[in-house]
Amino acid sequence: MAEYEAVIGLETHIQLNTVSKIFCGCKADSWQDPPNTNICPVCTGLPGALPALNQVVVEKAVLLAAAVQAEEIRPRSYFARKNYFYPDLPKGYQISQYDEPLARGGFFDLPLPGGQMRRVTIHKLHVEEDAGKTLHRGDRRLIDFNRCGVPLVEMVTGPDLRSADEVAQYLIRLRQLLRWLGISDADMERGQLRCDANVSIRLAGQDRLNPKTEIKNVNSITNVRDAVQAEIERQIREVEAGRPIETWTLDWDEERQALSKMRAKETESDYRYFREPDLLPIILESEWKARLLQGLPELPLERRRRFVEQYDLPEYDAEILTEERSLSEYFEQAVESFSGEPKTVSNWLMNDVLRLIREQGRAAGALQLTPGHLARIIEMVSARQITASTGKELLEQVEDSGRAPDDLVKEQGLAQLSDEASLRELARGVLQSNPQQVELYRGGKTTLLGWFVGQVMRETGGQADPQIARQVLQDLLGE
Ligand SMILES: [Zn+2]
Repeated sequence: MAEYEAVIGLETHIQLNTVSKIFCGCKADSWQDPPNTNICPVCTGLPGALPALNQVVVEKAVLLAAAVQAEEIRPRSYFARKNYFYPDLPKGYQISQYDEPLARGGFFDLPLPGGQMRRVTIHKLHVEEDAGKTLHRGDRRLIDFNRCGVPLVEMVTGPDLRSADEVAQYLIRLRQLLRWLGISDADMERGQLRCDANVSIRLAGQDRLNPKTEIKNVNSITNVRDAVQAEIERQIREVEAGRPIETWTLDWDEERQALSKMRAKETESDYRYFREPDLLPIILESEWKARLLQGLPELPLERRRRFVEQYDLPEYDAEILTEERSLSEYFEQAVESFSGEPKTVSNWLMNDVLRLIREQGRAAGALQLTPGHLARIIEMVSARQITASTGKELLEQVEDSGRAPDDLVKEQGLAQLSDEASLRELARGVLQSNPQQVELYRGGKTTLLGWFVGQVMRETGGQADPQIARQVLQDLLGE
């Protein structure tokens, strides 16, 4: 069989996490609110109601445009009406942007397994309002307008992705970026990040683009990957059988794990776009924009690279520590308060603190165990003032109580017994009460040393410094 490659472009819809909707004061996030409770004359399109643009929508969209290196964040862009009839679109049109969008050009780099990067070009980025929801209940259709007017950014990529796995990677990295920038919660299951995939295939090495199909309405990263994979395989079967690929719109049925044909794809002329007469253009003053972009944080991949270089961390650590912005900041603050190696902090974070974060379901920055507390605990373990296992218990105690680690150590007498004289006293007692083992040891069974160390540890409730205990025992047994 011939070698094929897939050519995939994505249209993503990103729900911005603003407090209010894009053109009215209604609450934007209606998750779990009763239907039709966050609505008003503007977002339900009553006659005479006029939209007014929410500035925060523009701010968040501009941040995203800058983060995907937009070639052009346009100083002047316009809203347009996209006309179509659907019951959950009460105005009969959606306010969107068309030929003069907020931003054009740009790219988003995806690290692929194996260390290469896939550069995904961004064609355009625009803001628009969402439509409502239609719920099917038996043979009834119920309409919920809560989602009408919820702000969206639509971002369209070039046909740059080459496999279903790359599509999944794109969505994972985009979700990371959106959360990092704090502009969307980007939860696909909640519809805050939606994705339509345009899929075609060609013989490997060819340049030309073949007819494509569009997969719509897939609501998780796994499902997008499965749907794209199924469509690539279907197209290969069609082409191998000598049949043409038709430009269908396909719907993914999660239960059947199969694609079904929805309708022939609409063309742009079906929407009769024209400039929105009720809204002024979006004008970005350069000073305003410059001030806004000062707040653009270092991006995940840059930070990952810097962690490797600046802190001498393995790629693996840097990747995990930069999965989430709050965690990466926590790490840097802890490193700053710690006098040892950054890798030590990374180990503690990845092994123990991450578990705490997952158990608590909170961001790193919201823990009661501050980066300073963590650094102090690691210091005490490194200086052998407490044992490693006491250190781990302390993490939990500090998290539960919010108290300083030093206070807890003092109050509960957790300090490690590293005073040689008192350990020697203890060790002598252990030898005296176990004469048989001493005899065996002196007769050549030196592996018993570990057992003696264990006895000293037990006597001290685990607080003896095991290395000193071992040394002292060796001395005494050698006498
Ligand atoms: Zn409203």
